[in-house]
Amino acid sequence: MAVEADPKFVREVIKLGGKTLKKCMQCATCSVVCPLSPENSPFPRKEMIWAQWGLKEKLLKDPDVWLCHNCNDCSKYCPRDAKPGEVLAALRARMIAEYSWPSFMAKIVNNPVYFPLFVLIPIILIGALISAFGLSVPSGGEEIVYSKFIPMEFVEAGGFIFGGLAVLIALIGLWRFWNALTEGGGKTITVEPKEGAELEVQGGMCFLDAVVYAIWDIIKHSWFKICEVNRNRYYAHLLMFYGFIALGITAGLDVVAKYVFGMPHLPIWHPAKILGNLGAIALFLGCSFAIYNRLTNPDVKGGSYFDWFFLLTLYAVAITGIITELARLAGSVAAYYLYVVHLIAVFMLIAYAPYSKFAHLIYRGVAMAYAKASGREPKLPF
Ligand code: SF4
Ligand code: SF4
Repeated sequence: MAVEADPKFVREVIKLGGKTLKKCMQCATCSVVCPLSPENSPFPRKEMIWAQWGLKEKLLKDPDVWLCHNCNDCSKYCPRDAKPGEVLAALRARMIAEYSWPSFMAKIVNNPVYFPLFVLIPIILIGALISAFGLSVPSGGEEIVYSKFIPMEFVEAGGFIFGGLAVLIALIGLWRFWNALTEGGGKTITVEPKEGAELEVQGGMCFLDAVVYAIWDIIKHSWFKICEVNRNRYYAHLLMFYGFIALGITAGLDVVAKYVFGMPHLPIWHPAKILGNLGAIALFLGCSFAIYNRLTNPDVKGGSYFDWFFLLTLYAVAITGIITELARLAGSVAAYYLYVVHLIAVFMLIAYAPYSKFAHLIYRGVAMAYAKASGREPKLPF
């Protein structure tokens, strides 16, 4: 079989954070120590050689890239400091760029040169809204109510339009990814053969069951729990995941309370508000742990722009949300200005989600379901 190498692909993976990939000498220590790798055709050794050779076609439809949860147990033991965990993270970024639509967007969102442009977009949109409707910050001395400045209908319409667009684009990406995994129409479950040989399938299950089990694994964070070296990552991810979900639920309940029960402003003691405030604190703590880990753990130190863009945007959402709420409770007019900064951060998180690391949630979910259905994913010990 002819091997088609793609040097451009190698350069792209290096640029996305896989700069150590050429150090690999194929000793396979990483595949042995990886707690998540199946016995058949284990990862990440094979991904390292494929990445070195630029075997783009193989890597872009390799579900194993997504079974890796970036614990970096492998990087800890790699004798060549080739950081296979980081290389797989770069491959995931490259896969998101490949499948997202339009793909040039992923390239520019993940290029630091364009960062000012992506901050400027929500600033221009909000500025245009303010000047078009002659909105002005209310004077001090009265209760802080954001809708006195920017009517909630505008914020909700923005959320609906840009959030809906993000979901639609993410679904297109997912469809393209699914087609690549199954190589044709999304009907047949197949497993990438191991270098020409038929890969032994260990059982598998019906796809719908696989989806339910994958969601259950994500809810429990089962795979993160198995990682040994970088255990803190489990807690950080758990806090970020549930913090974000709590905020999403509160935002949804806010809309229901307003349009179904005619309650435009929920009081601070309302369970939905309490959930949202706890969610913001969890998100803040989770992001703080993750950033601390990124800055201090030698096995993951540094990280790529792709990583930082998502992490810092999420952090900005949590910090601006908390500070805005505190300013509102203190009755400070500054709350209105902080609210605008918060909206900018939320826009950046949601509107660019299909192109940023945020998309990893759905790609990994689908790859996990696929792996379960094909019998690829090992059974958990609990
Ligand atoms: S990445 Fe490191 S541990 Fe894995 S095969 Fe290469 S040299 Fe060995
Ligand atoms: S980062 Fe963790 S899950 Fe990923 S290949 Fe390395 S050891 Fe396995």
